[in-house]
Amino acid sequence: MTTTPPLPGWTHVYSGKVRDLYRPAAGSETDDGRMLVVASDRVSAFDHVLSPGIPGKGTLLTTLSLWWFDQLAGGDGGRPIPNHLASKADDPQLRIPDAVAGRAMIVSSLDMLPVECVVRGYLTGSGWAEYRAAGTVCGIPLPEGLGDGDRLPEPIFTPAYKAPMGEHDENISFAQTVALVGAERAAQLRDASLEIYGRASAIVEAKGLILADTKFEFGIDGAGILTLADEVLTSDSSRYWDARAWVTGATPAERMASFDKQIVRDWLTGVWDKRGTPPELPAEIVERTAAKYRELLERLTSRAG
Ligand code: ATP
Ligand code: MG
Repeated sequence: MTTTPPLPGWTHVYSGKVRDLYRPAAGSETDDGRMLVVASDRVSAFDHVLSPGIPGKGTLLTTLSLWWFDQLAGGDGGRPIPNHLASKADDPQLRIPDAVAGRAMIVSSLDMLPVECVVRGYLTGSGWAEYRAAGTVCGIPLPEGLGDGDRLPEPIFTPAYKAPMGEHDENISFAQTVALVGAERAAQLRDASLEIYGRASAIVEAKGLILADTKFEFGIDGAGILTLADEVLTSDSSRYWDARAWVTGATPAERMASFDKQIVRDWLTGVWDKRGTPPELPAEIVERTAAKYRELLERLTSRAG
C-alpha cells in the first residue's frame, strides 16, 4: 500500500492511514517498550488515503502535537496529563533518524484502548447527521432547534469504536464503551477527555479560535496508568474554526471556516460518490489545505494571541 523508508536503528512494524510505526531494531541495547511514530504527509478523508499528500503536513502536525502535549503536561497551569512521549533521558541511545526529523516522536508503546474518545462542544459532521435524524448524538438527547455548527449547552463525550484497519469506526453509546473497556476505565476516559477538551478550549479561545470537536486516543502503560497517546489536538483529529467568522458568518459554511481537512472533504463530496477509489486532489486544494494547516499552527503557538 504505502512505502516506508528504512530508518537506521528502527524496524518498521505498522502503517496506519497517516502514521508509520517503528520499533527499535533487533539487537539494539535499549528498552523495546519504545516506538517511533512518524507522521507522513498522507491525508485521509472518509477513511480513504488520498493522493497526493499535503507537503509539510507531517511536520506541522507533529509540531502541533508536541506543543499540545507540553501545554497539557502543565504548561497551561493544569494538572499534568500523563502522555506517551518518552523522555530523552530514558533512552539516550534511541534517536530520531535525520530522514524523519521534525515529524517523528519516540513514545512508549501502550496497550491501546479500542475507543476513539470524541468530545464535541459544537454540533456538526456525524453528530449533526445523527441529531437531525434522531435528536441525539451517540444516544445523548439534545435540546430541540439546534442548527449545523451551533454550540452545545455543554461539551459531550461521544465515543467511537476504533475499528480494526480497513473497517469504519462507528459511534457508540457510553454503555457500549463500558462493555468494551469496563465501567471504571470508561468513566476515566470520559472524565479525562472532557477535562482535556475544556483546558484546550480555553487556550484555543484566547487565540480567537473555536475547538468545535476533537478526538483523543488513550492507552494503558506498564503501571496501569491511563495515558494520552497518538496525536493530540491536531488539525487531523480536531475541528478548529475561526471565532469571528462563526459569529458573523451568514451560512453554515462561512460560520465553520475551518483549519482542518474540511477543504478536502468538501471538495471530495462535490465530485465523488464515496464508492471506489477517490479522485486525485487538485493542486489548488492541496495548497489551500497546506496554507490552513500552517495558519493554525501560527495562530495557536504565537505568543501575541
Ligand atoms: P488505524 O489504526 O486504523 O490504522 P489510523 O489510520 O488513525 O488508524 P494512524 O493514525 O495513521 O492510524 O497511525 C497511528 C496508529 O498508532 C494508531 O493505530 C494509533 O492507535 C497507534 N498508536 C498511537 N500511539 C500509540 C502508542 N503510544 N502505543 C501504541 N500504539 C499507538
Ligand atoms: Mg489516527
